[in-house]
Amino acid sequence: MKVMVAYAPNDLRIVEMEKPVPGPRETLIKVHHTGICATDVAIMKGTLTLGEGNEPIYPVRLGHEWSGVVEAVGSENWRIKPGDRVISDTGYSCGECEMCLMGQYQNCENGRAIGTIRDCWPGAFAEYMLMPERLVFKVPDNVALDAAALIEPASIGLYGVERAGITPRKKLAVIGTGPIGLGGMACAKGQGIGKTILVGRKDVKLEIGRKLGADILVNTTRESMIEVIMRETDGKGADIVLDTTGDASIFNDVCKCVRSSGCLVIPGFYEKPILNADLDNLIVRNCTLIGAAGTPNMGRKLLDLMSYGHVDLTPMITDRFPFSQVKEAFDAVSSRNDSRVKIMVDFV
Ligand SMILES: [Zn+2]
Ligand SMILES: [Zn+2]
Repeated sequence: MKVMVAYAPNDLRIVEMEKPVPGPRETLIKVHHTGICATDVAIMKGTLTLGEGNEPIYPVRLGHEWSGVVEAVGSENWRIKPGDRVISDTGYSCGECEMCLMGQYQNCENGRAIGTIRDCWPGAFAEYMLMPERLVFKVPDNVALDAAALIEPASIGLYGVERAGITPRKKLAVIGTGPIGLGGMACAKGQGIGKTILVGRKDVKLEIGRKLGADILVNTTRESMIEVIMRETDGKGADIVLDTTGDASIFNDVCKCVRSSGCLVIPGFYEKPILNADLDNLIVRNCTLIGAAGTPNMGRKLLDLMSYGHVDLTPMITDRFPFSQVKEAFDAVSSRNDSRVKIMVDFV
C-alpha cells in the first residue's frame, strides 16, 4: 500500500509499505478521505512547537482527520464488520490501564496521538489504517464519509462549547473561521444556542460560516470585533467566546468580548507564553477560562448530530485533491489562503 511519510522537516515522501494484517482485536480499514490539518503542515515544515515532550518524532506518518470502510477484522471483533463505514476516535488509548479504567482515556498511560506528536499511532495519509475495534465508530448510512472525516476538528470545537454549556438563551461568539471554530459553532447552533456571531477576516470564509449557522458575520478588516459583539449582545458581551485564532496579540480584546460570568473557550494553541495577558479582566468579572484540546468519544455525539440532521459540516470542504496529488495538496495549504477552510484528500 502507498503511504505518505514526513521523514524530516520538508521531506515529504510517498512510499510503498506492506499492507498490515489486523490482530485479534483490530480492524483493517481502507481509507477513503483524510483532511489536511494545520498541525500536519506544521509537522511537515518542522515548525510545530507544543513544548517539551510534545515534539513530533520523525519519520511521522501524518493524518488524523479521516474516514474509511472496514476491509477485514480480527478474530475477537464483535461489533465492527467488513463493509462498515467508520471513523476512529481522536487518539489511541489502551482501555486497560488505571486511567482508562477510571474513564480518563485522554490520560491513558499508553496513550498515543494519531499521526502527529510523540510516538504517534501511524496516521491516515495511507491507503489502509489499522485500528483497535474499541476506537472505531460506525458512520450512520445517511452521513457522507467525507463529512465524517471533518468530525475530528469539529469535535474539538463541540467539546469546548459543550463544557461552556449550550442553552437557547446564550450567545456564542466564534473568533476564527477554521474547522474547529466553524465546527463548534455548527454544533452549538444545531443544539439550539440562541445567537451566533462569527468573527474573521475573509468574506468567503465568513459566508461559509453562514451556511454552518452563523447569524452575525464580523469582518475585522472593516469592523471592530468588540463593537459588533457588544452591539449584538446588548452591550453585555457573549456568554461563550470560542477563540480559535491562537493569536496572542488579540487576547486582551477577546477577553473584553466575554460577558461577566461567561466562558472563554480556547482550543487553539498559542505555541508560546502570552505576555501582558490581562487576566484580571476575566477574574474580576467571574469569567471561566476553558482549555479545549479535545477529548475521546466525541465522534459518536457528532455522528448522531449529523445523522439526525442537526449539523451538516460539508460546506467546510473547500478544496479536494486525489491521494496521488497529496504533496500538491500540502503545497496548496502553505500558499495564500483567502477561501480555503478544509482541503480533503480523497483515496477513492
Ligand atoms: Zn488537527
Ligand atoms: Zn490506557
